[in-house]
Amino acid sequence: MKKDLHPEYKEVQVTCACGNSFTTKSTRDEIRIEICSECHPFFTGTQKVHDRGGRAEKFKKKYGLED
Ligand SMILES: [Zn+2]
Repeated sequence: MKKDLHPEYKEVQVTCACGNSFTTKSTRDEIRIEICSECHPFFTGTQKVHDRGGRAEKFKKKYGLED
């Protein structure tokens, strides 16, 4: 009997290269990213980016940042 065919989603620590960290749900043990909502220019507003619709939302979903 194999019980681990379906990986469980669990709380994991996400660590960004900028030093920010937060938790999200994933099947992985650890997640390292190079950019997060704290340091991405799109979010910080240090750089004007044309929003072609939903880019922020996709980014949030990709990294599980939605509340
Ligand atoms: Zn960051």
